[in-house]
Amino acid sequence: MLGARSRRTSPGAPIGIDPARSAVRLTEVTKEYGRGPSAVVALDQVSTGIAAGSFTAVMGPSGSGKSTFLHCAAGLDRPTSGTVQLGGQDLGELDETQLTRFRRTRIGFVFQAFNLLPSLTVEQNITLPLRLAGTRTDHDSVGSVTAAVGLAGLLGRRPAQLSGGQQQRVAIARALITRPEVIFADEPTGALDPDTAEDVLALLRQAVTDLHQTVVMVTHDPVAAQHTDLVVFLAGGRVAGRVDAPSAAQVKSVMTELRRNH
Ligand code: ADP
Ligand code: MG
Repeated sequence: MLGARSRRTSPGAPIGIDPARSAVRLTEVTKEYGRGPSAVVALDQVSTGIAAGSFTAVMGPSGSGKSTFLHCAAGLDRPTSGTVQLGGQDLGELDETQLTRFRRTRIGFVFQAFNLLPSLTVEQNITLPLRLAGTRTDHDSVGSVTAAVGLAGLLGRRPAQLSGGQQQRVAIARALITRPEVIFADEPTGALDPDTAEDVLALLRQAVTDLHQTVVMVTHDPVAAQHTDLVVFLAGGRVAGRVDAPSAAQVKSVMTELRRNH
């Protein structure tokens, strides 16, 4: 049911995703929290596609539905109605066990707070998704991923012995190790100083450009959005616009407009 991923060749090779295909597609996705008069409609009939091999930012005022969008798109939460397809798989068709396995093998996550396991070394943190998925750890692919994120000399350290930027690099390496269909990042630079944030954004960009990954990032930072190919704006739980090849100034002005009107 999960479908064979025949396009995967070796772990070091780019995934040959058809660029014309959406890596993620939401169709009329509505998410309500609660019921009756106190119900909150966090997403309201959202339909949008995320192109494979693209770096997309999701932006919008506080409470506009960004986290809910990310959680529904990544199969961490289920929509009240509508469908989410990821890599051609309708997530609504999967039961909880299948969905958990799907997330482990086909989706990568990067969080604001890094979410590394403090008792594990850098190398063990990075290879954790492989162990959870029951996949054999391929030392060549660990080597190429850690080299790509600039962690080669730090594999034996624990997270507490790393800077914030280094910890986020570990988290990105952990997200890359399974070569997932999509990497979802929720405010990945929110806890970092501006210079370190730039490094992390450059690394996510590199994952898209060099490794042909697809990255979807929630951010409130117009400078961060500038690194992406496309910004999808949410307001009041709806898609309020899209900007291709965004500049920080453009993004800032749309955000100001959305805050004024919502
Ligand atoms: P954002 O990430 O853009 O700030 P969220 O997706 O977190 O927005 O929230 C969208 C709306 O849904 C907000 O009105 C928020 O209060 C509401 N909401 C989010 N999560 C829950 C929840 N678990 N229970 C009730 N309401 C929620
Ligand atoms: Mg949020």
